[in-house]
Amino acid sequence: MPQDPDPPPAKRFKPGSPFFRLDKKPGMLLPRTGQAPVSVDAQRRQLPIYQAKTQLINQLRQLHNAVIIGETGSGKTTQIPQYLYEAGIGRQGIIAVTQPRRVAAISLSSRVAEEKRVQLGKIVGYTVRFEDVTSSETKLKFMTDGMLLREAIGDPLLLRYTVVILDEAHERTVHTDVLFGVVKSAQRKRAEQNKVPLKVLVMSATMDVDLFSQYFNNSPVLYLEGRQHAIQIYYTKQRQSDYLQAALVSVFQIHQEAPASHDILVFLTGQEEIEALARTCRDIAKHLPDTCGPMTVIPLYASLPQAQQFRVFQPAPKGSRKVILSTNIAETSITISGIKYIIDTGMVKAKRFNPDSGLEVLAVQRVSKAQAWQRAGRAGREDAGSCYRLYTEEEFDNFANMTVPEIQRCNLASVVLQLLALGVSDVLNFDFMSKPSPESMRTAVEQLNILGAVDRKDEKVLLTPLGKKMASFPLEPRFSKTLLISPDFSCTEEILTIISLLSVDSVLYNPPARRDDVLAVRKKFISSEGDHITLLSIYRAFKKVNGNKEWCRENFVNSRNMGLVSEVRGQLRDICIKMNMKLESSQSDIANIRRCLAHGMFMNAAQLQLDGGYVALDTQQAVAIHPSSVLFQAKPAYVVFNELLHTSRCYMRDLCLVDADWLQEAAPEYFRRKLRATKS
Ligand code: ADP
Ligand code: MG
Repeated sequence: MPQDPDPPPAKRFKPGSPFFRLDKKPGMLLPRTGQAPVSVDAQRRQLPIYQAKTQLINQLRQLHNAVIIGETGSGKTTQIPQYLYEAGIGRQGIIAVTQPRRVAAISLSSRVAEEKRVQLGKIVGYTVRFEDVTSSETKLKFMTDGMLLREAIGDPLLLRYTVVILDEAHERTVHTDVLFGVVKSAQRKRAEQNKVPLKVLVMSATMDVDLFSQYFNNSPVLYLEGRQHAIQIYYTKQRQSDYLQAALVSVFQIHQEAPASHDILVFLTGQEEIEALARTCRDIAKHLPDTCGPMTVIPLYASLPQAQQFRVFQPAPKGSRKVILSTNIAETSITISGIKYIIDTGMVKAKRFNPDSGLEVLAVQRVSKAQAWQRAGRAGREDAGSCYRLYTEEEFDNFANMTVPEIQRCNLASVVLQLLALGVSDVLNFDFMSKPSPESMRTAVEQLNILGAVDRKDEKVLLTPLGKKMASFPLEPRFSKTLLISPDFSCTEEILTIISLLSVDSVLYNPPARRDDVLAVRKKFISSEGDHITLLSIYRAFKKVNGNKEWCRENFVNSRNMGLVSEVRGQLRDICIKMNMKLESSQSDIANIRRCLAHGMFMNAAQLQLDGGYVALDTQQAVAIHPSSVLFQAKPAYVVFNELLHTSRCYMRDLCLVDADWLQEAAPEYFRRKLRATKS
């Protein structure tokens, strides 16, 4: 193992620093490359995968299935599709590369288009929800796994594709897991029917791929040698009660000690805390003595507007240190060069599901060991690096080894609906790589049954005509249901707006420093009937001024996200038109809109209790109104909510005031049962 030419700054930390030094984790060491190359072609040739190119092409030509493992950054995603294409493999159709995240699909396709010197959308394109940048020429198509699933509904054999690359397989998102089954079945059926064969490649950044290999007919596993330099791991001496504070301290310790060219990547859990920490960092950096260089703080999370996401790839101005504050998005899907330090809070925001209660919540929780190693690895891409873990070694020892696949910890209603729409006859016994528990499958079927999307005949689950229509929308079942029943309440135009607003990230911009100003301008939009109606008023006002940027600034509205809302709305509206739905506006009749929401979202209803708290009617779980809601200070008797967020307690987010009668009307049998359950 080579010696570090410079002692890492941590060694020079003053006494009282929260860190102590730990032995290096032995890494796979390969020769360092020299100066950063300039041309894109040279960059391609420098990638670890390049040396394996010929061998790889020869093997992939022969195989129908393969699992490919390589460190993040070795060139799997950007190079393998190009190698296949250049070698003429799968030329009769399209090579699909699936990604769990839309930002990755977009940025990777842009990169590949740049490397091939073609315009994005021609030979190389991408498709993500609500956005399709492909054409009839497209041969290399980057897409979210969710999009390929949607395409499979119309084309279960995926006949347009000759190769499907299931990338980032280790992430095990629900969509990827469902896709595994869909692709496997398409491959088998195509072989049986003597159609053009489908090549299926699974790519992963982690080593535990036995499951993938077994599932795909014991496919061979190809290892790519990565370029991983030694990484020093530091743990905290003591447990940290406030990981944000610990992260802040660590950023500035490093900032004061390390050369400016050494960039820092901090793993956090979500948009709100990232934006807050970014502001604090910028503020502190401004007031540091001149001996400290400037700092360029860049947030990164999935919902960030695209143009801003791309900032992470750009170098900071000369002499300035780049500090990236990111969610787990930077764990594997995106490779950022120049990172020398990782600060790992050990936390991640993820879905958690309790099949007994049927409750799905987003919660901040510990990462797994596998994730922690993956995070640490981001520091060793180009040279030796360091990872500061904001937890003790003992805490780390107690982390779970692997992350439980999402399919085993989420509400499966969408999945079951999608499988039925795909024509899977025996959904309860679908060939999942990791089977979800029978209870959660049953809960999902029951929920869809209550929504009227499925019927049960004996042991069979069948899609109803309503269910079939529901599956046509790229929305969660309760949203598509709400939209489909909206003509009964003559408010389809409004429901389209509301659902679009809930489908993109917040259109409201809330800079804490200007809290009073925000409150003052928001006043005119706030509705005592809840957040849905408030958002609707904001959208209407936005439309009235034709999306005027100045208006957005004055009203603390995120104009980009609002623009996206309009786009999403347009696409959903097109689907409604195709289905011959009556598109009416309820104009100023707000009660109708709330009734419609009550009828569609009744499974997300909560009731006020004598003690002033709330109980979710479906699960009897104690819940509270999130402080961001316009109803936070109010105590409505009944509400429906959009989602639950679990932090210190279980919060309902985005609420609408409803009448108890409406809920009863919407699902009499369901509420009778719930009532009985409450009494017993
Ligand atoms: P893998 O899939 O093995 O993690 P990738 O193919 O995504 O690797 O990335 C290979 C290399 O391509 C990265 O190390 C990085 O240098 C470069 N790269 C990838 N995406 C971009 C981008 N959007 N901008 C600049 N460079 C990129
Ligand atoms: Mg990749």
